[in-house]
Amino acid sequence: MKAISILGSTGSIGTQTLQIAEEFPDHFKIVALTAGRNLSLLTQQIIIHKPELVAIADKSLLPELKDRLNNLIKEKKIHRVPELMAGKEGLNVAASWPSADLVVTGIVGCAGLLPTLSAINAGKDLALANKETLIAAGPVVIPALNQSGSRLLPADSEHSAIFQCLQGTPWPDNARLSTGIPTPGLRNIQLTASGGAFRDWSAEDLKKATVKDATSHPNWSMGKKITVDSATLMNKGLEVIEAHYLFGLDYKNIEILIHPQSIIHSMIELSDSSVIAQLGWPDMKLPILYCMTWPKRFETNWPKLKLTEVRELTFKEPNQSKYPCMNLAYSAGKTGGTMPAVLNAANEEAVAKFLEEKVHFMQIPKIIESTCEKHKNELIKKPNLTDILEVDRWAREISKESIK
Ligand code: NAD
Ligand code: MG
Repeated sequence: MKAISILGSTGSIGTQTLQIAEEFPDHFKIVALTAGRNLSLLTQQIIIHKPELVAIADKSLLPELKDRLNNLIKEKKIHRVPELMAGKEGLNVAASWPSADLVVTGIVGCAGLLPTLSAINAGKDLALANKETLIAAGPVVIPALNQSGSRLLPADSEHSAIFQCLQGTPWPDNARLSTGIPTPGLRNIQLTASGGAFRDWSAEDLKKATVKDATSHPNWSMGKKITVDSATLMNKGLEVIEAHYLFGLDYKNIEILIHPQSIIHSMIELSDSSVIAQLGWPDMKLPILYCMTWPKRFETNWPKLKLTEVRELTFKEPNQSKYPCMNLAYSAGKTGGTMPAVLNAANEEAVAKFLEEKVHFMQIPKIIESTCEKHKNELIKKPNLTDILEVDRWAREISKESIK
């Protein structure tokens, strides 16, 4: 029985992890849950999964959570109130909860950084969905992983695909999983991208893009922030940086390929020129399940991939001028140090303001570019955690100013 702690249990990644736990009750039990604000869904999850600890990120909601749980006791829907915590401390405790074997990081944004580090420092294995943490703080997260021996299993579908393809190669040596060291024999990575909500729109049409347009993804059902990131292709840019940290490849060896069907989840090219791909229907449950069962495979009755139904798999190069975020990410990744943290923070702010309809879709890359530009002279090549947190704060402030 594997004990799981879920950070961000009410989100898209969190709820899919819980669905898997419900499907395999003999293999997984949920010991800790954290959520941002959604009390209704969180209390439903508590009734079903009976965790030992629950943490709510918004401290002001703790009294209401207590009331709701006391009512559930009266209604005999639960027999015992779990240990309850709130705020940042609560997230850190959930991430390092003693009985947890695996921590699923389904929090969105850099808010996941400190809890992720708590999990690593406690030696927990991680199913990493929260890519922003690695992008902002790769120079801190990778050494922490190496020191603690905690293993980072990629839940992002592309990185899971690469990880799965690598299982047949001399890598990974189990003791050195995802530690940023170049993978023997791995020459190239091709990250596939659906192209997001605007893949069939012209650059001219993008000027009229609304929030509703940007949050309707053609292939995947995900949280709002990552859906907008998919529409700008910043998601793929962030994934390039994520792949760099996870698999230790140079940026010139990580390519993006538009593949509208989202059936090939990514490919690797090995030193002898052989290419290996991982295929499946676009369903996040598969990469999440693999994090939960690795190195084993479970028997599922999930829909089988039928290529005769898909009929064709097509590919094209991404249009650089239509998707400036992609190049901003490559450039921040190559600069390294604190620049990816600035890119990430500026993107989080710009997307949040776009979702509030305060800025236009086309302004997102402009805000990010101008914030990164302002950071060039202040770049810290080998940042520590304090540097990253400070730069994250600074970049948010600068982005907000440029939005005003
Ligand atoms: P989501 O918005 O659906 O869920 C986010 C979760 O985090 C919710 O439980 C929310 O309550 C919680 N949360 C939000 N802000 C918080 C804060 N400040 N402090 C604590 N908790 C907070 O997002 P999602 O789509 O599930 O994505 C989660 C992460 O996984 C993101 O980093 C995303 O890039 C990554 N990811 C998601 C998918 C997907 O299919 N959804 C795929 C690959 C990677
Ligand atoms: Mg992905």
